[in-house]
Amino acid sequence: MRVSRDFRFEAAHRLEDYDGRCEALHGHSWKLRVTVSAPVGEDGLAYDFVKLADEVNEKVISVLDHSYLNELFRPPSAEKVAEWVWERLTHLPLAEIVIWETEDCMVTYDG
Ligand SMILES: [Zn+2]
Repeated sequence: MRVSRDFRFEAAHRLEDYDGRCEALHGHSWKLRVTVSAPVGEDGLAYDFVKLADEVNEKVISVLDHSYLNELFRPPSAEKVAEWVWERLTHLPLAEIVIWETEDCMVTYDG
């Protein structure tokens, strides 16, 4: 069973080697979907939504929210955000990470 939960955070970045508007400092309202995969237990749950929220808020959202991504990793692209999030959550039975940089643009990472 796959269990997902969505999260949101505000963060700024600038793509220093990008030839276009994203080279300038700007911010996004990012959306993150974390999906874990686990069998359904006798309690009827595969993974507790509350536990998933606690883990992601502690390891990821608390660091990324209102951050300047260039200070965390380079280049601070959506792809690099997805890889960074994955590395922070390897103790979970991860299946997939999706990061929306804007409402219409997202990357999907499965490790
Ligand atoms: Zn951007």
